[in-house]
Amino acid sequence: LSIGVPTESQVRSGERRVAITPQNAAVLLKKGFKEVLVEHGAGFQAQFPAHDYEEAGATLVNATRVWTDSNIVLKIRPPRLRATTLSPNNFISGFREGGVIISMLQPNSDRYKNVIDTYQSKGLTSFAMDMIPRITRAQSFDVLSSMANIAGYKAVLEASNEFGRFITGQTTAAGKVPPCRVLIIGAGVAGLSAIATARRMGAIVKCFDTRPATKEQVQSLGAEFVEVTDVKEDGSGGGGYAKVMSQAFHDAELRLFADLCKDTDILITTALIPGRPAPRLITEEMVASMKPGSVVVDLAAENGGNCEPTVPGQLIHHKGVTVIGYTDLPSRLPTQSSTLYSNNIT
Ligand code: NAD
Repeated sequence: LSIGVPTESQVRSGERRVAITPQNAAVLLKKGFKEVLVEHGAGFQAQFPAHDYEEAGATLVNATRVWTDSNIVLKIRPPRLRATTLSPNNFISGFREGGVIISMLQPNSDRYKNVIDTYQSKGLTSFAMDMIPRITRAQSFDVLSSMANIAGYKAVLEASNEFGRFITGQTTAAGKVPPCRVLIIGAGVAGLSAIATARRMGAIVKCFDTRPATKEQVQSLGAEFVEVTDVKEDGSGGGGYAKVMSQAFHDAELRLFADLCKDTDILITTALIPGRPAPRLITEEMVASMKPGSVVVDLAAENGGNCEPTVPGQLIHHKGVTVIGYTDLPSRLPTQSSTLYSNNIT
């Protein structure tokens, strides 16, 4: 069987990742796949040059051949169906019946419905990397975790780039510098990664989550776990995920955040509930109450955002506070995210 690796479409998404690294192309060939056909330039944005793929034994081809000559196509995002002036071919039309596409797919949302309909009409099989069960046995395939880990890390770096002070506290001859105060909402994979990164940079970190099970994880990373004290409710839903909270708890949570925001320099929100829009937890007033120069990074931006002022995909300024709603954080660390995604998919 032959494996194909197309270049990710840059149109709209600005996607910089590639589904397979040269190192893993060699692994697949060693495992007995006949050929790994990599489109010219596929790894370019992720700093994997063409000659590294060739040295690994892969074959560099044009986009048309990736689709016509492969049995299995590996991608990050589902393929584009519409031809554009930049990309005049609808490559999937050349893919053989019975072919297999492995990518992220979000089959539970309507986002790629037309892609799934096309797969069905052409008799293709697709594996959705984002639907693999999040159980211990399947951890090595878990792209949601590997990408969330990167998003949490990169959120702290993006925030620190916009923040006008050190993250760590210092006592210097030129004056005493207080440490940056970071608040993280949601202690899933991304939130825990953000805690670890901010702590390594020397910040004082607080974190809140509706699932009590996260308390020990937060504390083990050196952050303070903050809790709602006036309403008692366990936010654990099925499969380790969160459930929708009662209105009373939601109101109490918002009172807690209103209090904490005034004393927070960097706020990173990661709260999600599977299959639902992201809970609205940070109001415009809370953002406005933060000190000038503070930074918010809303990792839930793609699902509607946890913060009122968030604009998905953009960095904006709201009453002296920078609000980052980037939806492509893993792609902003393209070498690392390609490497981990490639390991997952291999
Ligand atoms: P997620 O992205 O769905 O949600 C992020 C966090 O937001 C969660 O911790 C959730 O509790 C929190 N949250 C939701 N509503 C909130 C609110 N109103 N206020 C504050 N926080 C709120 O989560 P995830 O990163 O996908 O992780 C979900 C779970 O799956 C975790 O328990 C994780 O440990 C588990 N997991 C297990 C494995 C495994 O292999 N066993 C792999 C991956 C993840």
